[in-house]
Amino acid sequence: MNDKIWLSSPHMGDNELKYVTEAFKTNWIAPLGPHVDGFENDLAAYTGSKYAAALSSGTSAIHLALIMLGVKAGDEVICQSMTFSASANPISYVGATPVFVDSEKETWNMCPDLLREAITDRIAKGNKPKAIIPVHLYGMPAQMDKIMAIANEFEIPVIEDAAEALGSSINGKAMGTFGLMGILSFNGNKIITTSGGGALISDQEEYIKQARFLATQARDKAHHYEHSVIGYNYRMSNVSAGIGRGQMEVLQERVDKRRSNFEFYKKELTVFEGLSVLEEPQGYFSNRWLSTIHVDPAKTKGVNKKSLYNILLEDNIESRPLWKPMHMQPVFATSPFYGNGVSEELFRNGLCLPSGSNLSDEDLERVIKGISRVF
Ligand SMILES: *Cc1c(COP(=O)(O)O)cnc(C)c1O
Repeated sequence: MNDKIWLSSPHMGDNELKYVTEAFKTNWIAPLGPHVDGFENDLAAYTGSKYAAALSSGTSAIHLALIMLGVKAGDEVICQSMTFSASANPISYVGATPVFVDSEKETWNMCPDLLREAITDRIAKGNKPKAIIPVHLYGMPAQMDKIMAIANEFEIPVIEDAAEALGSSINGKAMGTFGLMGILSFNGNKIITTSGGGALISDQEEYIKQARFLATQARDKAHHYEHSVIGYNYRMSNVSAGIGRGQMEVLQERVDKRRSNFEFYKKELTVFEGLSVLEEPQGYFSNRWLSTIHVDPAKTKGVNKKSLYNILLEDNIESRPLWKPMHMQPVFATSPFYGNGVSEELFRNGLCLPSGSNLSDEDLERVIKGISRVF
């Protein structure tokens, strides 16, 4: 059996261990410390956001953002349907209802036309949405100019889920910095990892200060422990942040490598009739977190997502269907949905290919060889 090729596995650089060792030597083994401060500064500098709060996960960042916007039971929040469940779960944590919006074909992200339709319809039904959560899937930026214009017109705050898009931008502006707040993830499979972690970024200092306060059990200023609001244990540890600092030093290399994976797949796979990739619209820059391939079974003489998945699995290669849309998930069966068929079609015919920045040329050749065999 050949070695396993993973979809997206952690890829450490040279200095992560040095920073972790430093945390041990100085006994900063806590959810605060110099690496946490340093990592926050690195994130703000890299994204161009004024402020950043390092947290225990991307999910907790969304949760805190919703809390700070005052979202509560009975409220509605608009969320992209095609995404990982972590975009939507925090809406339920605060007792609100997600309202799902389908994708468009240019970026596979939230369709601006359907967003407008959803907002006007929810307002007509007497429940104006309290927030909008667009996602930059696989690193491809959503159409933020249009989404922000609509959000501003209706005065609804945007929480940008940039968990998959650190390193992506539109005309040089980093994803996560278009909305009122943005969230990042450093989970094990993301473009950089702290083994588990996330961040909230914003140009509004008040949100970042409040996020740090809520994330450390909401302790009021007093000698004893005094609490006037409910708190959370959501801060990032100084050990994890040490990993993060090392990872930030190699982030640009990781983006370059993932983009080169994508270019390789594009060159080698689009020669097959019926296979296509998602191109970047003008001015859009994707970190190509995951390389994806779209299959048109009408043109491939029967080859479909499943047959590609199976042939790769035979050679111990991990691939995965595109995210199953949230409106198709049993847990969200009763949530409102504004659809156009795009995300369902993508789920039916799309596949994520091995995309790690640690893949060798040989690994990539094995993927191509596998796929070539079905054609
Ligand atoms: C990974 C991910 C998250 C959640 O991040 P965690 O750090 O794993 O909690 C949220 N949204 C999307 C789109 C993601 O891919």
